[in-house]
Amino acid sequence: MDSTFDAMQFDDRFVRELPADPNTDGRRRQVLGACHSAVMPTPVPAPRLLAWSRELAQSLALPPELVESEAFVRVLAGCGIAPGMRPYAACYGGHQFGNWAGQLGDGRAITLGELILPDGSRQELQLKGAGPTPYSRSGDGRAVLRSSLREFACSEAMHHLGVPTTRALGLVTTGDDVVRDMLYDGHPAAEPGAVVCRVAPSFLRFGNYEIFTSRGDKDTLRTLLDHTIRHHFAGLGEPGPERYAAWYREVCERTATMIVGWMRVGFVHGVMNTDNMSVLGLTIDYGPYGWIDDFDPNWTPNTTDAANRRYRFGQQPQVAAWNLAQLARAVLPVLPGSNEAGAAALQEGLDAYITAFERDHGAMMAAKLGLDALRAGDDARGDAALIEELLAVLAATPTDMTIFYRRLAEVPTAVDASDSALLEMVRPAYYDDAIDGRVTARMVAWLRRWSARIREDAVPDEVRRARMNAVNPKYVLRNCLAQLAIDDATAGDNSTLHSLLAALSRPYDEQPEFERFAGRRPEWARNRVGCSMLSCSS
Ligand code: AMP
Ligand code: MG
Repeated sequence: MDSTFDAMQFDDRFVRELPADPNTDGRRRQVLGACHSAVMPTPVPAPRLLAWSRELAQSLALPPELVESEAFVRVLAGCGIAPGMRPYAACYGGHQFGNWAGQLGDGRAITLGELILPDGSRQELQLKGAGPTPYSRSGDGRAVLRSSLREFACSEAMHHLGVPTTRALGLVTTGDDVVRDMLYDGHPAAEPGAVVCRVAPSFLRFGNYEIFTSRGDKDTLRTLLDHTIRHHFAGLGEPGPERYAAWYREVCERTATMIVGWMRVGFVHGVMNTDNMSVLGLTIDYGPYGWIDDFDPNWTPNTTDAANRRYRFGQQPQVAAWNLAQLARAVLPVLPGSNEAGAAALQEGLDAYITAFERDHGAMMAAKLGLDALRAGDDARGDAALIEELLAVLAATPTDMTIFYRRLAEVPTAVDASDSALLEMVRPAYYDDAIDGRVTARMVAWLRRWSARIREDAVPDEVRRARMNAVNPKYVLRNCLAQLAIDDATAGDNSTLHSLLAALSRPYDEQPEFERFAGRRPEWARNRVGCSMLSCSS
Protein backbone atom coordinates (compact mmCIF):
# COMPACT_ATOMS: atom_id res chain seq x y z
CA MET A 1 0.00 0.00 0.00
CA ASP A 2 1.33 3.43 -0.96
CA SER A 3 2.35 5.27 2.21
CA THR A 4 2.43 8.70 0.49
CA PHE A 5 -1.04 9.49 1.73
CA ASP A 6 -0.61 8.32 5.32
CA ALA A 7 -0.53 11.93 6.53
CA MET A 8 -4.06 12.51 5.24
CA GLN A 9 -7.34 11.36 6.68
CA PHE A 10 -10.60 11.97 4.86
CA ASP A 11 -14.22 12.06 5.86
CA ASP A 12 -17.25 11.75 3.57
CA ARG A 13 -19.99 13.40 5.64
CA PHE A 14 -21.61 15.12 2.69
CA VAL A 15 -21.93 11.85 0.79
CA ARG A 16 -22.83 9.76 3.82
CA GLU A 17 -25.47 11.99 5.37
CA LEU A 18 -27.24 13.42 2.35
CA PRO A 19 -29.41 11.67 -0.25
CA ALA A 20 -27.42 10.30 -3.16
CA ASP A 21 -28.26 10.08 -6.82
CA PRO A 22 -29.00 6.34 -7.24
CA ASN A 23 -27.80 6.47 -10.82
CA THR A 24 -24.03 6.12 -11.06
CA ASP A 25 -23.47 5.87 -14.78
CA GLY A 26 -22.45 9.53 -15.09
CA ARG A 27 -25.06 10.26 -17.77
CA ARG A 28 -26.04 13.93 -18.04
CA ARG A 29 -29.55 14.43 -16.81
CA GLN A 30 -31.89 15.98 -14.28
CA VAL A 31 -31.00 14.54 -10.88
CA LEU A 32 -34.03 14.45 -8.59
CA GLY A 33 -34.24 14.11 -4.81
CA ALA A 34 -30.46 13.98 -4.35
CA CYS A 35 -27.76 16.38 -3.15
CA HIS A 36 -24.90 14.71 -4.96
CA SER A 37 -23.86 12.21 -7.60
CA ALA A 38 -20.88 9.92 -7.30
CA VAL A 39 -18.39 10.68 -10.05
CA MET A 40 -14.72 9.98 -10.68
CA PRO A 41 -12.37 12.58 -12.14
CA THR A 42 -11.29 11.75 -15.68
CA PRO A 43 -7.53 11.04 -15.92
CA VAL A 44 -5.34 13.33 -18.03
CA PRO A 45 -2.17 12.44 -19.97
CA ALA A 46 0.59 14.54 -18.42
CA PRO A 47 -0.03 16.22 -15.04
CA ARG A 48 2.46 18.93 -14.10
CA LEU A 49 2.37 20.97 -10.92
CA LEU A 50 2.64 24.63 -11.88
CA ALA A 51 2.06 26.21 -8.49
CA TRP A 52 0.85 25.34 -5.03
CA SER A 53 0.14 27.27 -1.87
CA ARG A 54 2.77 26.46 0.73
CA GLU A 55 0.97 28.43 3.37
CA LEU A 56 -2.37 26.69 2.77
CA ALA A 57 -0.68 23.28 2.70
CA GLN A 58 0.85 24.10 6.06
CA SER A 59 -2.50 25.05 7.53
CA LEU A 60 -3.88 21.75 6.21
CA ALA A 61 -0.94 19.93 7.86
CA LEU A 62 0.20 18.64 4.48
CA PRO A 63 4.01 18.36 4.30
CA PRO A 64 5.66 19.95 1.23
CA GLU A 65 7.12 16.58 0.17
CA LEU A 66 3.61 15.18 0.04
CA VAL A 67 2.18 18.01 -2.05
CA GLU A 68 5.05 17.79 -4.52
CA SER A 69 5.05 13.99 -4.72
CA GLU A 70 4.13 12.41 -8.04
CA ALA A 71 1.28 10.50 -6.42
CA PHE A 72 -0.28 13.64 -4.96
CA VAL A 73 0.14 15.64 -8.16
CA ARG A 74 -1.75 12.85 -9.89
CA VAL A 75 -4.57 13.29 -7.39
CA LEU A 76 -4.52 17.07 -7.99
CA ALA A 77 -4.89 16.38 -11.71
CA GLY A 78 -7.69 13.85 -11.31
CA CYS A 79 -5.60 10.79 -12.25
CA GLY A 80 -6.28 8.97 -9.02
CA ILE A 81 -7.69 9.36 -5.55
CA ALA A 82 -6.31 8.90 -2.05
CA PRO A 83 -7.72 6.36 0.40
CA GLY A 84 -10.90 7.62 2.07
CA MET A 85 -11.95 9.93 -0.77
CA ARG A 86 -15.45 9.48 -2.20
CA PRO A 87 -15.63 11.94 -5.07
CA TYR A 88 -18.93 13.60 -5.90
CA ALA A 89 -20.54 16.39 -7.88
CA ALA A 90 -23.19 18.44 -6.07
CA CYS A 91 -26.66 19.18 -7.40
CA TYR A 92 -27.68 22.83 -7.41
CA GLY A 93 -29.67 25.31 -9.43
CA GLY A 94 -29.43 29.04 -9.69
CA HIS A 95 -30.69 32.40 -10.82
CA GLN A 96 -28.44 33.52 -13.65
CA PHE A 97 -28.56 37.21 -14.59
CA GLY A 98 -31.89 37.55 -12.79
CA ASN A 99 -33.65 34.51 -14.27
CA TRP A 100 -34.22 31.08 -12.80
CA ALA A 101 -32.02 28.69 -14.79
CA GLY A 102 -33.10 25.34 -13.36
CA GLN A 103 -30.60 22.63 -12.56
CA LEU A 104 -26.94 23.60 -12.96
CA GLY A 105 -24.78 21.62 -10.53
CA ASP A 106 -21.07 20.87 -10.42
CA GLY A 107 -20.54 20.57 -14.16
CA ARG A 108 -16.78 20.73 -13.93
CA ALA A 109 -16.10 20.57 -10.23
CA ILE A 110 -15.62 17.33 -8.35
CA THR A 111 -15.18 17.26 -4.58
CA LEU A 112 -12.67 14.59 -3.65
CA GLY A 113 -13.30 14.41 0.07
CA GLU A 114 -13.21 16.24 3.37
CA LEU A 115 -9.71 16.42 4.78
CA ILE A 116 -9.71 16.06 8.57
CA LEU A 117 -7.31 18.53 10.17
CA PRO A 118 -5.41 17.89 13.39
CA ASP A 119 -7.93 20.05 15.29
CA GLY A 120 -10.79 17.88 14.00
CA SER A 121 -12.16 20.48 11.60
CA ARG A 122 -12.67 19.59 7.96
CA GLN A 123 -11.77 21.19 4.66
CA GLU A 124 -13.13 19.94 1.35
CA LEU A 125 -10.70 19.42 -1.50
CA GLN A 126 -12.40 20.06 -4.81
CA LEU A 127 -10.99 19.81 -8.32
CA LYS A 128 -12.20 22.27 -10.94
CA GLY A 129 -11.74 21.13 -14.52
CA ALA A 130 -11.33 17.41 -13.81
CA GLY A 131 -13.81 16.13 -16.38
CA PRO A 132 -17.53 15.73 -16.94
CA THR A 133 -20.20 14.97 -14.36
CA PRO A 134 -23.96 14.36 -14.62
CA TYR A 135 -24.30 18.16 -14.37
CA SER A 136 -22.04 19.06 -17.28
CA ARG A 137 -24.95 19.70 -19.67
CA SER A 138 -23.28 20.67 -22.96
CA GLY A 139 -19.90 21.41 -21.37
CA ASP A 140 -16.74 19.31 -21.38
CA GLY A 141 -16.05 19.49 -17.65
CA ARG A 142 -12.67 21.05 -18.36
CA ALA A 143 -10.96 24.35 -17.64
CA VAL A 144 -8.20 26.19 -19.48
CA LEU A 145 -4.90 27.32 -18.02
CA ARG A 146 -5.70 31.03 -18.19
CA SER A 147 -8.88 30.76 -16.14
CA SER A 148 -7.39 28.21 -13.73
CA LEU A 149 -4.36 30.40 -13.11
CA ARG A 150 -6.68 33.35 -12.53
CA GLU A 151 -8.70 31.37 -9.98
CA PHE A 152 -5.64 30.03 -8.21
CA ALA A 153 -3.88 33.39 -7.92
CA CYS A 154 -6.96 35.42 -7.07
CA SER A 155 -8.32 33.19 -4.34
CA GLU A 156 -4.95 33.20 -2.63
CA ALA A 157 -4.64 36.98 -3.11
CA MET A 158 -8.09 37.52 -1.60
CA HIS A 159 -7.18 35.40 1.40
CA HIS A 160 -4.10 37.49 2.08
CA LEU A 161 -6.14 40.65 1.65
CA GLY A 162 -8.38 39.43 4.44
CA VAL A 163 -11.48 38.92 2.28
CA PRO A 164 -13.40 35.68 3.00
CA THR A 165 -12.77 33.28 0.13
CA THR A 166 -12.35 29.70 -0.94
CA ARG A 167 -8.67 28.83 -1.15
CA ALA A 168 -6.55 27.09 -3.77
CA LEU A 169 -4.03 24.41 -2.93
CA GLY A 170 -2.66 23.49 -6.32
CA LEU A 171 -2.61 24.37 -10.00
CA VAL A 172 -1.69 21.64 -12.47
CA THR A 173 -1.58 21.54 -16.23
CA THR A 174 -3.01 18.42 -17.79
CA GLY A 175 -1.09 17.94 -21.01
CA ASP A 176 -4.41 18.03 -22.85
CA ASP A 177 -5.76 20.82 -24.98
CA VAL A 178 -9.19 22.31 -24.38
CA VAL A 179 -11.10 24.13 -27.10
CA ARG A 180 -12.73 27.43 -26.18
CA ASP A 181 -14.41 30.25 -28.04
CA MET A 182 -13.04 32.88 -25.70
CA LEU A 183 -15.42 35.71 -26.60
CA TYR A 184 -18.25 33.60 -28.04
CA ASP A 185 -17.61 35.19 -31.42
CA GLY A 186 -17.13 32.09 -33.55
CA HIS A 187 -13.36 31.75 -33.12
CA PRO A 188 -12.75 28.56 -31.16
CA ALA A 189 -9.13 27.78 -30.38
CA ALA A 190 -7.22 25.05 -28.56
CA GLU A 191 -5.71 26.09 -25.25
CA PRO A 192 -3.75 24.20 -22.59
CA GLY A 193 -6.00 22.55 -20.00
CA ALA A 194 -5.51 22.83 -16.26
CA VAL A 195 -7.05 21.81 -12.96
CA VAL A 196 -7.26 23.88 -9.78
CA CYS A 197 -7.64 22.19 -6.42
CA ARG A 198 -9.91 24.44 -4.37
CA VAL A 199 -10.28 24.23 -0.62
CA ALA A 200 -13.15 25.36 1.62
CA PRO A 201 -15.08 24.04 4.61
CA SER A 202 -17.99 23.73 2.18
CA PHE A 203 -18.83 24.79 -1.35
CA LEU A 204 -22.58 24.98 -0.64
CA ARG A 205 -24.23 27.77 -2.61
CA PHE A 206 -27.62 29.48 -2.49
CA GLY A 207 -28.53 27.36 -5.49
CA ASN A 208 -28.10 24.11 -3.53
CA TYR A 209 -31.23 25.08 -1.55
CA GLU A 210 -33.12 26.81 -4.36
CA ILE A 211 -33.14 23.69 -6.51
CA PHE A 212 -35.22 21.68 -4.03
CA THR A 213 -37.74 24.46 -3.48
CA SER A 214 -38.13 24.85 -7.24
CA ARG A 215 -39.04 21.17 -7.37
CA GLY A 216 -41.32 21.23 -4.32
CA ASP A 217 -38.94 18.80 -2.58
CA LYS A 218 -39.23 20.02 1.02
CA ASP A 219 -37.84 16.83 2.56
CA THR A 220 -34.50 17.05 0.83
CA LEU A 221 -34.38 20.79 1.48
CA ARG A 222 -34.82 20.22 5.23
CA THR A 223 -32.25 17.44 5.24
CA LEU A 224 -29.71 19.71 3.56
CA LEU A 225 -30.48 22.66 5.84
CA ASP A 226 -30.09 20.48 8.93
CA HIS A 227 -26.80 19.10 7.62
CA THR A 228 -25.57 22.63 6.91
CA ILE A 229 -26.46 23.89 10.37
CA ARG A 230 -25.07 20.86 12.17
CA HIS A 231 -21.67 21.02 10.50
CA HIS A 232 -21.16 24.63 9.47
CA PHE A 233 -23.31 26.74 11.79
CA ALA A 234 -23.01 24.75 14.99
CA GLY A 235 -23.27 27.94 17.04
CA LEU A 236 -26.96 28.10 16.14
CA GLY A 237 -27.73 24.99 18.19
CA GLU A 238 -29.52 21.75 17.41
CA PRO A 239 -30.69 21.79 13.76
CA GLY A 240 -34.37 21.91 12.89
CA PRO A 241 -36.91 24.23 11.29
CA GLU A 242 -36.87 26.59 14.31
CA ARG A 243 -33.26 27.39 13.40
CA TYR A 244 -33.75 28.17 9.73
CA ALA A 245 -34.55 31.85 10.10
CA ALA A 246 -31.53 32.38 12.37
CA TRP A 247 -29.42 30.49 9.87
CA TYR A 248 -30.65 32.70 7.05
CA ARG A 249 -29.85 35.77 9.09
CA GLU A 250 -26.30 34.56 9.63
CA VAL A 251 -25.87 33.92 5.91
CA CYS A 252 -27.04 37.50 5.35
CA GLU A 253 -24.52 38.89 7.82
CA ARG A 254 -21.65 36.86 6.42
CA THR A 255 -22.56 38.00 2.93
CA ALA A 256 -22.40 41.62 4.12
CA THR A 257 -18.88 41.05 5.44
CA MET A 258 -17.79 39.55 2.13
CA ILE A 259 -19.25 42.34 0.02
CA VAL A 260 -17.70 45.05 2.20
CA GLY A 261 -14.38 43.26 1.64
CA TRP A 262 -14.88 43.37 -2.13
CA MET A 263 -15.71 47.07 -2.06
CA ARG A 264 -12.68 47.83 0.09
CA VAL A 265 -10.14 46.23 -2.23
CA GLY A 266 -11.79 46.98 -5.57
CA PHE A 267 -12.84 43.46 -6.53
CA VAL A 268 -15.59 42.86 -9.08
CA HIS A 269 -16.88 39.29 -9.04
CA GLY A 270 -18.43 39.54 -12.48
CA VAL A 271 -20.98 36.68 -12.25
CA MET A 272 -22.94 37.03 -9.04
CA ASN A 273 -25.49 34.41 -9.98
CA THR A 274 -27.07 32.62 -7.02
CA ASP A 275 -25.14 29.47 -7.93
CA ASN A 276 -21.98 31.49 -7.30
CA MET A 277 -22.96 32.70 -3.82
CA SER A 278 -21.59 30.69 -0.90
CA VAL A 279 -23.75 30.23 2.20
CA LEU A 280 -20.56 30.50 4.23
CA GLY A 281 -20.06 34.02 2.88
CA LEU A 282 -16.95 33.06 0.93
CA THR A 283 -15.96 34.52 -2.40
CA ILE A 284 -16.49 31.57 -4.71
CA ASP A 285 -16.15 30.70 -8.41
CA TYR A 286 -13.55 33.02 -9.83
CA GLY A 287 -14.47 33.42 -13.49
CA PRO A 288 -14.66 36.71 -15.39
CA TYR A 289 -13.82 38.69 -12.27
CA GLY A 290 -11.71 41.83 -12.39
CA TRP A 291 -10.11 44.53 -10.29
CA ILE A 292 -10.94 48.17 -10.49
CA ASP A 293 -7.92 50.02 -11.83
CA ASP A 294 -9.37 53.49 -12.30
CA PHE A 295 -12.26 54.01 -9.90
CA ASP A 296 -15.41 53.51 -11.96
CA PRO A 297 -18.47 52.15 -10.12
CA ASN A 298 -20.05 51.25 -13.46
CA TRP A 299 -17.26 48.98 -14.56
CA THR A 300 -17.65 45.25 -15.11
CA PRO A 301 -15.02 42.95 -16.60
CA ASN A 302 -17.63 40.50 -17.90
CA THR A 303 -18.40 40.97 -21.60
CA THR A 304 -21.36 38.59 -21.19
CA ASP A 305 -22.87 41.29 -18.97
CA ALA A 306 -21.79 44.30 -21.02
CA ALA A 307 -25.28 45.34 -22.05
CA ASN A 308 -26.94 45.54 -18.63
CA ARG A 309 -23.92 45.69 -16.35
CA ARG A 310 -25.96 43.89 -13.74
CA TYR A 311 -22.81 42.85 -11.89
CA ARG A 312 -20.89 46.14 -12.09
CA PHE A 313 -18.64 47.14 -9.20
CA GLY A 314 -20.97 49.67 -7.62
CA GLN A 315 -24.02 47.44 -7.78
CA GLN A 316 -22.58 44.45 -5.94
CA PRO A 317 -24.18 45.33 -2.57
CA GLN A 318 -27.64 45.55 -4.17
CA VAL A 319 -27.17 42.36 -6.15
CA ALA A 320 -26.14 40.51 -3.00
CA ALA A 321 -29.42 41.63 -1.40
CA TRP A 322 -31.36 40.43 -4.44
CA ASN A 323 -29.60 37.07 -4.25
CA LEU A 324 -30.30 36.81 -0.53
CA ALA A 325 -33.97 37.47 -1.28
CA GLN A 326 -33.90 34.45 -3.61
CA LEU A 327 -32.42 32.37 -0.81
CA ALA A 328 -35.22 33.57 1.48
CA ARG A 329 -37.78 32.40 -1.05
CA ALA A 330 -36.07 29.02 -1.10
CA VAL A 331 -36.18 28.65 2.68
CA LEU A 332 -39.68 30.03 3.28
CA PRO A 333 -41.62 26.79 2.57
CA VAL A 334 -39.86 24.91 5.38
CA LEU A 335 -40.08 27.57 8.10
CA PRO A 336 -42.33 26.71 11.04
CA GLY A 337 -45.60 28.56 11.63
CA SER A 338 -47.65 30.57 9.20
CA ASN A 339 -46.38 31.85 5.90
CA GLU A 340 -46.68 35.43 7.15
CA ALA A 341 -44.65 34.71 10.27
CA GLY A 342 -42.00 32.97 8.18
CA ALA A 343 -41.81 35.80 5.71
CA ALA A 344 -41.48 38.32 8.54
CA ALA A 345 -38.64 36.31 10.11
CA LEU A 346 -36.80 36.17 6.80
CA GLN A 347 -37.36 39.87 6.24
CA GLU A 348 -35.58 40.47 9.54
CA GLY A 349 -32.63 38.52 8.19
CA LEU A 350 -32.55 40.58 5.03
CA ASP A 351 -32.83 43.76 7.10
CA ALA A 352 -29.87 42.48 9.09
CA TYR A 353 -27.92 42.35 5.82
CA ILE A 354 -28.68 45.98 5.15
CA THR A 355 -27.86 47.03 8.70
CA ALA A 356 -24.62 45.03 8.74
CA PHE A 357 -23.62 46.27 5.32
CA GLU A 358 -24.22 49.93 6.12
CA ARG A 359 -22.46 49.70 9.47
CA ASP A 360 -19.46 47.77 8.16
CA HIS A 361 -19.21 49.73 4.94
CA GLY A 362 -19.13 52.96 6.93
CA ALA A 363 -16.47 51.60 9.25
CA MET A 364 -14.52 50.35 6.25
CA MET A 365 -14.59 53.73 4.51
CA ALA A 366 -13.59 55.43 7.75
CA ALA A 367 -10.62 53.07 8.01
CA LYS A 368 -9.63 53.65 4.37
CA LEU A 369 -9.60 57.38 5.05
CA GLY A 370 -7.70 57.04 8.32
CA LEU A 371 -10.60 58.19 10.50
CA ASP A 372 -11.28 56.74 13.93
CA ALA A 373 -14.96 56.35 13.12
CA LEU A 374 -17.51 57.94 10.87
CA ARG A 375 -19.10 60.99 12.37
CA ALA A 376 -22.85 61.14 11.82
CA GLY A 377 -24.61 64.18 10.44
CA ASP A 378 -26.56 64.58 7.25
CA ASP A 379 -25.26 68.06 6.66
CA ALA A 380 -22.15 68.88 4.69
CA ARG A 381 -20.11 68.53 7.88
CA GLY A 382 -20.92 64.87 8.32
CA ASP A 383 -18.42 62.26 7.15
CA ALA A 384 -20.96 60.78 4.75
CA ALA A 385 -20.70 63.97 2.70
CA LEU A 386 -16.90 63.78 2.79
CA ILE A 387 -17.02 60.25 1.39
CA GLU A 388 -19.63 61.08 -1.21
CA GLU A 389 -17.53 63.95 -2.51
CA LEU A 390 -14.41 61.75 -2.63
CA LEU A 391 -16.15 59.08 -4.70
CA ALA A 392 -17.34 61.77 -7.10
CA VAL A 393 -13.85 63.29 -7.37
CA LEU A 394 -12.27 59.88 -7.97
CA ALA A 395 -14.74 59.14 -10.76
CA ALA A 396 -14.37 62.58 -12.37
CA THR A 397 -11.16 61.62 -14.18
CA PRO A 398 -9.56 58.15 -14.42
CA THR A 399 -7.92 57.74 -11.02
CA ASP A 400 -6.33 54.53 -9.83
CA MET A 401 -8.17 53.47 -6.70
CA THR A 402 -5.42 51.36 -5.17
CA ILE A 403 -2.68 53.92 -5.73
CA PHE A 404 -4.88 56.79 -4.58
CA TYR A 405 -5.45 55.40 -1.09
CA ARG A 406 -1.79 54.51 -0.62
CA ARG A 407 -0.80 58.04 -1.66
CA LEU A 408 -3.44 59.54 0.60
CA ALA A 409 -1.80 57.82 3.55
CA GLU A 410 1.36 59.82 2.76
CA VAL A 411 -0.28 63.25 2.70
CA PRO A 412 0.95 65.26 5.70
CA THR A 413 -2.00 66.74 7.53
CA ALA A 414 -0.22 68.54 10.35
CA VAL A 415 0.95 71.40 8.15
CA ASP A 416 -0.84 73.34 5.45
CA ALA A 417 0.65 72.35 2.11
CA SER A 418 0.35 74.39 -1.08
CA ASP A 419 -2.20 73.39 -3.70
CA SER A 420 0.45 72.08 -6.04
CA ALA A 421 2.19 70.12 -3.29
CA LEU A 422 -1.09 68.48 -2.37
CA LEU A 423 -1.84 67.61 -5.96
CA GLU A 424 1.64 66.15 -6.45
CA MET A 425 0.95 63.74 -3.60
CA VAL A 426 -1.88 62.05 -5.48
CA ARG A 427 -0.73 62.62 -9.05
CA PRO A 428 0.70 59.07 -9.42
CA ALA A 429 -2.90 57.83 -9.25
CA TYR A 430 -4.00 59.79 -12.32
CA TYR A 431 -4.17 58.07 -15.71
CA ASP A 432 -4.21 61.23 -17.81
CA ASP A 433 -1.39 63.76 -17.97
CA ALA A 434 -3.59 66.76 -18.70
CA ILE A 435 -6.57 67.00 -16.40
CA ASP A 436 -9.21 69.70 -16.40
CA GLY A 437 -8.25 72.32 -13.79
CA ARG A 438 -11.71 72.15 -12.27
CA VAL A 439 -11.20 68.47 -11.50
CA THR A 440 -7.82 69.01 -9.87
CA ALA A 441 -9.15 71.99 -7.91
CA ARG A 442 -11.92 69.81 -6.62
CA MET A 443 -9.42 67.18 -5.54
CA VAL A 444 -7.28 69.78 -3.75
CA ALA A 445 -10.35 71.15 -1.99
CA TRP A 446 -11.28 67.64 -0.92
CA LEU A 447 -7.77 66.96 0.38
CA ARG A 448 -7.95 70.13 2.49
CA ARG A 449 -11.33 69.15 3.85
CA TRP A 450 -10.06 65.66 4.64
CA SER A 451 -6.90 67.04 6.29
CA ALA A 452 -8.98 69.29 8.52
CA ARG A 453 -11.15 66.35 9.50
CA ILE A 454 -8.10 64.19 10.23
CA ARG A 455 -6.68 66.91 12.49
CA GLU A 456 -9.84 66.78 14.57
CA ASP A 457 -9.09 63.15 15.44
CA ALA A 458 -5.64 64.26 16.64
CA VAL A 459 -3.93 61.04 15.59
CA PRO A 460 -0.24 61.49 14.66
CA ASP A 461 0.38 61.18 10.92
CA GLU A 462 2.65 58.15 11.22
CA VAL A 463 0.07 56.27 13.31
CA ARG A 464 -2.66 57.15 10.85
CA ARG A 465 -0.47 56.14 7.90
CA ALA A 466 0.21 52.70 9.38
CA ARG A 467 -3.50 52.19 10.05
CA MET A 468 -4.46 53.23 6.52
CA ASN A 469 -1.83 51.01 4.96
CA ALA A 470 -3.22 48.05 6.89
CA VAL A 471 -6.58 48.32 5.08
CA ASN A 472 -5.56 49.86 1.75
CA PRO A 473 -3.54 47.26 -0.14
CA LYS A 474 -0.54 48.20 -2.20
CA TYR A 475 -0.68 44.99 -4.24
CA VAL A 476 -3.83 43.60 -5.82
CA LEU A 477 -4.23 41.16 -8.70
CA ARG A 478 -4.68 43.74 -11.39
CA ASN A 479 -6.14 42.21 -14.53
CA CYS A 480 -3.01 43.04 -16.51
CA LEU A 481 -0.79 41.29 -13.94
CA ALA A 482 -2.81 38.08 -14.15
CA GLN A 483 -2.52 38.34 -17.93
CA LEU A 484 1.28 38.72 -17.80
CA ALA A 485 1.50 35.61 -15.61
CA ILE A 486 -0.77 33.75 -18.04
CA ASP A 487 1.24 34.79 -21.10
CA ASP A 488 4.49 33.65 -19.48
CA ALA A 489 3.07 30.40 -18.08
CA THR A 490 1.61 29.56 -21.48
CA ALA A 491 5.10 30.01 -22.92
CA GLY A 492 6.48 27.68 -20.26
CA ASP A 493 7.84 30.30 -17.85
CA ASN A 494 6.22 30.23 -14.40
CA SER A 495 8.49 32.82 -12.80
CA THR A 496 6.06 35.72 -13.24
CA LEU A 497 3.31 33.72 -11.55
CA HIS A 498 5.58 32.83 -8.65
CA SER A 499 6.78 36.42 -8.18
CA LEU A 500 3.22 37.65 -8.33
CA LEU A 501 2.08 35.11 -5.75
CA ALA A 502 4.92 36.18 -3.48
CA ALA A 503 4.00 39.87 -3.80
CA LEU A 504 0.31 39.16 -3.24
CA SER A 505 0.99 37.15 -0.12
CA ARG A 506 1.93 40.43 1.63
CA PRO A 507 -0.42 42.88 -0.05
CA TYR A 508 -0.19 45.62 2.59
CA ASP A 509 3.60 45.68 2.87
CA GLU A 510 5.95 47.86 0.88
CA GLN A 511 8.01 45.40 -1.19
CA PRO A 512 10.50 47.38 -3.26
CA GLU A 513 11.53 44.25 -5.18
CA PHE A 514 7.94 44.00 -6.49
CA GLU A 515 7.37 47.66 -7.27
CA ARG A 516 6.63 46.63 -10.87
CA PHE A 517 3.39 45.05 -9.67
CA ALA A 518 2.22 48.24 -7.95
CA GLY A 519 1.96 50.59 -10.92
CA ARG A 520 -1.00 51.84 -12.87
CA ARG A 521 -2.55 49.66 -15.57
CA PRO A 522 -0.35 50.04 -18.65
CA GLU A 523 -1.91 51.40 -21.83
CA TRP A 524 -1.68 48.03 -23.65
CA ALA A 525 -4.03 46.49 -21.10
CA ARG A 526 -6.80 49.02 -21.39
CA ASN A 527 -8.86 47.17 -23.98
CA ARG A 528 -7.12 43.86 -24.20
CA VAL A 529 -9.04 40.59 -24.05
CA GLY A 530 -8.25 38.96 -20.73
CA CYS A 531 -7.54 42.28 -19.05
CA SER A 532 -10.61 44.41 -19.40
CA MET A 533 -12.72 41.95 -21.33
CA LEU A 534 -13.53 38.50 -20.04
CA SER A 535 -16.37 36.12 -20.67
CA CYS A 536 -17.89 33.16 -18.89
CA SER A 537 -16.27 30.86 -21.46
CA SER A 538 -13.42 29.93 -19.17
P1 AMP B 1 -20.17 29.35 -13.91
O1 AMP B 1 -20.67 30.44 -14.79
O2 AMP B 1 -18.73 29.00 -14.10
O3 AMP B 1 -20.52 29.56 -12.48
O4 AMP B 1 -20.93 28.02 -14.38
C1 AMP B 1 -22.32 27.90 -14.43
C2 AMP B 1 -22.69 26.45 -14.64
O5 AMP B 1 -22.13 25.96 -15.86
C3 AMP B 1 -22.21 25.51 -13.54
O6 AMP B 1 -23.18 24.50 -13.38
C4 AMP B 1 -20.95 24.94 -14.13
O7 AMP B 1 -20.62 23.71 -13.57
C5 AMP B 1 -21.31 24.83 -15.60
N1 AMP B 1 -20.12 24.84 -16.46
C6 AMP B 1 -19.34 25.90 -16.76
N2 AMP B 1 -18.34 25.53 -17.58
C7 AMP B 1 -18.48 24.21 -17.80
C8 AMP B 1 -17.76 23.23 -18.57
N3 AMP B 1 -16.68 23.56 -19.26
N4 AMP B 1 -18.21 21.97 -18.55
C9 AMP B 1 -19.30 21.62 -17.85
N5 AMP B 1 -20.02 22.48 -17.12
C10 AMP B 1 -19.62 23.76 -17.09
MG1 MG C 1 -20.37 28.64 -10.85
